[in-house]
Amino acid sequence: MLVGELSGLVGGEHVLSGEAAAAYDRDATGRRGVEGRADAVVLPGSPAQAAAVVAWCYEHDVAIVPRGGGTGLTGGAVAIAGGVIISTERLRAIRELTPELWRMYVEAGVSTGHVQRLARENGLLFAPDPGASEQSQIGGNVATNAGGPHALKYGVTGAWVAGLEVVLAPGELLELGGWAKKDVAGYDLTSLIVGSEGTLGLITAVRLRLLPAREATEALVVFLEDRKRGCEAMLAVMAAGMEPSALEFIDGVTLGILAEGYPGEVPARAGFAVIAEVDGSRSEVAAQLSALEELLGAAAVAIEHPADRQALWRWRDGANGTVTGARGGKVSEDVVFPVELLEEGLERFEEIAERHGLPSCSWGHGGDGNVHASVLVDPLSDAELDAAAAVGEELFELVISLGGSIAAEHGIGWLKSGRLAAQWPAAAVEFHEQIKRTFDPKGLFNPGKKVAR
Ligand SMILES: Cc1cc2nc3c(=O)[nH]c(=O)nc-3n(C[C@H](O)[C@H](O)[C@H](O)COP(=O)(O)OP(=O)(O)OC[C@H]3O[C@@H](n4cnc5c(N)ncnc54)[C@H](O)[C@@H]3O)c2cc1C
Repeated sequence: MLVGELSGLVGGEHVLSGEAAAAYDRDATGRRGVEGRADAVVLPGSPAQAAAVVAWCYEHDVAIVPRGGGTGLTGGAVAIAGGVIISTERLRAIRELTPELWRMYVEAGVSTGHVQRLARENGLLFAPDPGASEQSQIGGNVATNAGGPHALKYGVTGAWVAGLEVVLAPGELLELGGWAKKDVAGYDLTSLIVGSEGTLGLITAVRLRLLPAREATEALVVFLEDRKRGCEAMLAVMAAGMEPSALEFIDGVTLGILAEGYPGEVPARAGFAVIAEVDGSRSEVAAQLSALEELLGAAAVAIEHPADRQALWRWRDGANGTVTGARGGKVSEDVVFPVELLEEGLERFEEIAERHGLPSCSWGHGGDGNVHASVLVDPLSDAELDAAAAVGEELFELVISLGGSIAAEHGIGWLKSGRLAAQWPAAAVEFHEQIKRTFDPKGLFNPGKKVAR
C-alpha cells in the first residue's frame, strides 16, 4: 500500500523498494553496524512533490529519513528503524546565479563540487570544502553544517547560508531567511535547521552567499620531528596573527601510513606534518609564505612547496581510505579539542588506545582543534571492535573534560545519539527536546538520530 500510494505522488519509477533500495541502506560509516531497512526510497522531482510525500508520511505515522549524497559518517541518512527515505538527488535546479551580487540559489540535491565549480567559473568562491565534495549534496552539507580544511578561515557551511526552502511537519513547504543582508525581525529559524541532521525538516533548496575568487592560493608542507613541535608550530602561526586558509595536521603514525602516496619525499626524521595553505592577492600570498617559513623554519625538519597543490589535497583527502587499509579496518571519531589543548588531547587519546591494546593515529583540521581520532582494527575481530568502542567512550569523556565537543563536523547521527546529556546541562538537553517537539510533534523526522536519548 505504501509503495502504491507514494507512487501516486511522484510516479512509480521514483519509488524504490526491495533490492532496488538496498544501496540506500547504508552511508559512508563503513563497518560499524549501521544497516538500514527502509520500507521505501522516494525520489521526488520537485519541492512540491517532496512536501506531498512528507504530508503523506505525517498523516500515516511513517518515519521520514531525509537523504542527500549518503556520504555521512554517523549513519544519519540510514533508515535504522524503517520508514521512508526521501532522497533529494533529483532536486538539482540552479534557481539563481548572480555573480555581481555574489550569490547562488540551488536545490538541495546539487553536489557540493558542482556548487564550487559554478562559483569558480563565475569568478567567485564557495568556501566550504568538505572532503567528499563530488558525492555530497548541498542539502546534506547544510543539514550537517559540514566543515572541511578551509573552515579555519571561512567558517563552516552555515556561515554561507542566507536562507532555506524547507518542508516542515506536517508537510508545509516554506521559505526561511532570504537575500536581505540584515534581518532581525524573528528568531533565526534558518540557523536552527542548519546542522539539524534531518530531525527537524527536509531542506529542498539553499540560498548561498559567495565570495570573490582569491587571486592566488599556495600551500606549504611543514615536516616536524614530533607532536609537541607540530602543535606548538600551529599555535605559533595563530599567535603571530597569521590567517592561513587551512592548517591541517597529520601525526607520525598517519604520516607513516600515508608516506608512500605523498607527492614528494617525506623526510626520514619527520614525525608530524602541518599543511598550511594561504590565499589572497599574489603579493599577500607571497608575504604570508615567507612569514610562515621564517616563523617555522627553525623548528621544522623540512619545509616543502608542493609543485602540484591539487595532488597534495588529493593525498590529504585520501587519508581516510588509506588509513583504513593499514589493518583492514579502523574506527574514527570526529571530535574537537580547544586548540590550545590539542597536544594534550592527542597524547591522552594515544594512551587510551594503548591501554586497550589498539594502535591509533590522528589527523585533522589542526587550526580548529578538530581531530579524526582513529584506532586501527582487524574488522573481523569482535574483541578489537569492542575495544575500539571502549576507546571511543573514553575519548568522549576526555574531550568533554577538556572543554571540547564529541561532534566537530560529522554530526551526531545514529552512531553518537544518546550522548547529548554527557556534554550539555540537563536544562539545555530539555530545550533541544522541546525544539524537536515543536518542529516535529509526532517525532517522525529521522527518529533515533541526534537528539534521541
Ligand atoms: C571521504 C569523506 C570525506 C569527508 N570529509 C568531510 C569533511 O572534511 N568535513 C565534513 O564536515 N564532513 C566530511 N565528510 C562527511 C560528509 O561528507 C558530510 O557530513 C556531508 O555534509 C554529508 O552530505 P550528504 O549529502 O552526503 O548527506 P547524507 O550523508 O545523505 O546525510 C547526512 C545527514 O544529513 C541529513 N540530510 C541530508 N540531506 C538533507 C536534506 N535535504 N534535508 C534535511 N536533512 C538532510 C540526513 O538525514 C543525515 O542526517 C566526509 C565524508 C567522506 C566519506
